[in-house]
Amino acid sequence: MNRRDFLKSLGAGALATTALAAGCDSPNQTQAEGFALGEVPTDKMTYRTGTHGEKVSLLGFGFMRLPTVDPDDRRSDLDQEAINGLADYAIAHGLNLFDTSPRYCQARSETSLGIALSRHKREDYLISTKLSNQSYDIWTREGSIKMFEESFEKLQVDYIDFYMLHCIGLPGRDNEGNTIDPMKAFYGRFIDNGILDFLIEQRAKGRIRNLGFSYHGDVKVFDEALSMHDKVHWDHVLIQHNYINWQHAGALAEEGETGDANSQYLYGELAKRDIPVFVMEPLLGGQLATLPQFAVDEMKRREPEQSLASWAFRFAGNQPRVLTVLSGMTYMEHLQDNLRTMSPHKPLTDEELAMLSDIAVRYAGISLIPCTNCQYCMPCPYGLDIPTIFAHYNKMVNEGNVITDDLSEAASSEERRAYRKARRAFLVGYNRAVEPDRQADRCIGCGKCLPECPQQIDIPGKMLMIEEKSN
Ligand code: SF4
Ligand code: SF4
Repeated sequence: MNRRDFLKSLGAGALATTALAAGCDSPNQTQAEGFALGEVPTDKMTYRTGTHGEKVSLLGFGFMRLPTVDPDDRRSDLDQEAINGLADYAIAHGLNLFDTSPRYCQARSETSLGIALSRHKREDYLISTKLSNQSYDIWTREGSIKMFEESFEKLQVDYIDFYMLHCIGLPGRDNEGNTIDPMKAFYGRFIDNGILDFLIEQRAKGRIRNLGFSYHGDVKVFDEALSMHDKVHWDHVLIQHNYINWQHAGALAEEGETGDANSQYLYGELAKRDIPVFVMEPLLGGQLATLPQFAVDEMKRREPEQSLASWAFRFAGNQPRVLTVLSGMTYMEHLQDNLRTMSPHKPLTDEELAMLSDIAVRYAGISLIPCTNCQYCMPCPYGLDIPTIFAHYNKMVNEGNVITDDLSEAASSEERRAYRKARRAFLVGYNRAVEPDRQADRCIGCGKCLPECPQQIDIPGKMLMIEEKSN
């Protein structure tokens, strides 16, 4: 697809109208390097309207990655005081949607969110959570209802604003480790056990206000769920959407896997039915905040004061049926930067969209590992820090420091120099980023992580590849 078609596909045409304020010394100003400077307004948040008239902030707070007491150990206790501070700041600056699930942060996220939000008035926030019954043992009606009820207790609420079937489209795995086709897994988890009917009843009773689903993987399951719309009346749907996935989701998928469909298709199908869209992975697991140099140069030339991430958030919020853009914001600097971008959201111009289209085409041609740092694969029983290893690998690819081939006998002195330089940079950074006993060479290929990964990454295969490159 050429640039013109890309623009047409977006229905582009909006003009940028709002200039962002310059920095000053107020407490609302971020000091962190790498983020945009400037006031964080308290009253300029962009809001969109949900199916039942809910006023939802365009930036939503994803409680998937939370600060821990020991910042170097994500398995250590959650830092509840820091989490309360982030939630308070978000609410004070107009953010009102918080998204969690029973699985996030090793099953600690809902409780943490409940503690943080119960300190506020119920009308000041909206909660989104999910039926995360991925484990084969709780595909039963009883097991799923238990998970549903526990969410109310942990979140300390008597109604949930947005409830979703979690991760439809992924394959399942039975207790013997056999793979279950994504469509069969969808029917097994949600339809045949009567859980979808149960949730429709719960919505009628007002215990959940909106019923939707989140999608990853096999698009046939997404289509199947939408074909039920006349009966179910989906109130919202969560999809992965960013300026790479818009048309290049396939380029991010693993070889032999389907990967998520392009978000252009997904969004189009939802908009056609007037179903509000929740966005996840606007930064592609953080990858769009640390871009290759060609993209950094282009963005900084246009908006030197703005962060790389701000472009991704502007893109994610650009389509009118997007209700909210979820972001995991572990640090205050991330939260401030994203609040600033959405307060108010500044539509992208045709020219800016064309720039992002060009970047997407080039980016999709680079071979990155599509890890979104969701942490579902953790902990690895052999201690590997899977997402950090992948983040380091991707960083090295972006910086041109991955050793692509073995050096041949006939290599020129210049090629040998470049090879040595890349190898040194890769290894020095690797040892800094990942403790030696948590690196790729510790992988024994047990496969325990495989069914957990929503991106369907061949994790042991990638570990082997990284290990070979770092030897
Ligand atoms: S396959 Fe490797 S990375 Fe995955 S759980 Fe086993 S040892 Fe850990
Ligand atoms: S490897 Fe997969 S499951 Fe693990 S953090 Fe990355 S995307 Fe998530």
